[in-house]
Amino acid sequence: MSGRVLVVDDVATNRLLLRAKLSSAYYDVVVAESGTSALDIARREQPDMIILDVMMPDMDGFAVCAALKEDEETAHIPVIMVTALDTPEERVRGLEAGADDFLSKPFDDLALFARVRNLMRMKMMFDELRLRDLTSRELGLTDFVTEHEMEVETGGAVLLAPPSDASGASWAEALRDRLGLSPILTHSEREALNLARLELPDLFVVHRSLIEGGDGLRLVSALRARPETRQAAILLVVEPGDVEAAATGLDLGASDYIEAPFDVNELVARVRSQLRRKRYSDRLRSNVRNGLMMAVIDPLTGIYNRRYAEQHMNRVMERARETGGAFAVLMIDLDKFKAINDRWGHDAGDAVLREFSRRLQENIRGVDLVARFGGEEFFVAMPDIDHEQAAAAAERIRGAVEGRPFEVTGTKDGLRVTVSIGVAIGTAEDGDPETIIRRADLALFRSKNAGRNRVSFCAEAA
Ligand code: GH3
Ligand code: MG
Ligand code: MG
Repeated sequence: MSGRVLVVDDVATNRLLLRAKLSSAYYDVVVAESGTSALDIARREQPDMIILDVMMPDMDGFAVCAALKEDEETAHIPVIMVTALDTPEERVRGLEAGADDFLSKPFDDLALFARVRNLMRMKMMFDELRLRDLTSRELGLTDFVTEHEMEVETGGAVLLAPPSDASGASWAEALRDRLGLSPILTHSEREALNLARLELPDLFVVHRSLIEGGDGLRLVSALRARPETRQAAILLVVEPGDVEAAATGLDLGASDYIEAPFDVNELVARVRSQLRRKRYSDRLRSNVRNGLMMAVIDPLTGIYNRRYAEQHMNRVMERARETGGAFAVLMIDLDKFKAINDRWGHDAGDAVLREFSRRLQENIRGVDLVARFGGEEFFVAMPDIDHEQAAAAAERIRGAVEGRPFEVTGTKDGLRVTVSIGVAIGTAEDGDPETIIRRADLALFRSKNAGRNRVSFCAEAA
């Protein structure tokens, strides 16, 4: 998995060095020699990652990072800051500006590449989600938000797997006091995995070695392997200078790491940025899910739409092929519905459609599928049914509509509504679903012609 990296440094030899290292690992490298040109290039070239020097004359790395995160076009690009000093204060400042990680000069290749690989993987995952989210946004189904706008103050579930009770207590205290979180403390891999299943944490803070002698790296790997914890953020805690553990952890799927002992400000800043990212990815995922729902659900009535119903018919026919049995298709159309709209208004018409879809659903079996085909036309697919049962079901639906007026605000005694129904019985021999739907349509036409408020059948196929 390669990708494009933008290297920003005011010193030419530093740019050359990083370009050489990254190119040797087959990354595509672009360079910028100042903060302002970095902002231009980032917008134009859309790199997958930015490695950003902190000390630059015109605009320092913190300012550049903050500007990148402010801009909708570049906010999603991960940033690694390169520092000479590498103090906790500097790291906290960087995290607050939106940086994802820090490297200090001279570079340790193991740390550099583990970080780059890890952020590249995360970026690709987000790109994919964002792309799908874009479709929902274009359809006007969801709003645009950037990760940076996500609030963390609403909390989140955090699970700690510390190296000792004492450090567990101090981590918990910092997260409680500074972020209002109530972390869960665990002692072993098994306990962490069991509690994770119950509590579904948004974030895990996992030390390299757990209180009861467990292996933090194995825990990271197990968390990534399980569906219920796969999407959670994981902050790995390693001993000072244990680059190897950090690199392995990142490759196993840790989201970030921190060297212990750490300044609590740094822990708080890293936890905050991981929680923010987790919330953002949850939001994108649910947008995508909603978008998928919207593609098959009719918003007015909440039942399936025509696209879904036609898809479903293929399954009904498959089942008929397996069982050799018959199924029924009902086409139902409200009678003189235009007159309801004209007399009582469009909202009253909508209320009638909603009430009708409720009555319809009350009068079918669990295995039947109802859909709104369009306008005031509805569809029911009934698997495993014969002519007589289908006739009884259609008659029950017709009666449920005629039998009781529809209560609609603005009308005194409610509205009298009737429906016409066309029924076609199908079997596996009928070929494609469209043929059967057409037969049901024909039967409906016959009900309309015969005076409405009735059920008609279409002669079964030869
Ligand atoms: P028929 O008995 O022959 O079916 O007569 P009809 O008036 O029901 O049929 P027609 O097709 O002439 O009119 C259907 C009306 O349904 C016209 C259209 O404005 C209205 N309609 C379609 N979709 C909606 C909707 O979502 N809400 C409302 N309120 N009306 C709708
Ligand atoms: Mg009608
Ligand atoms: Mg109509």
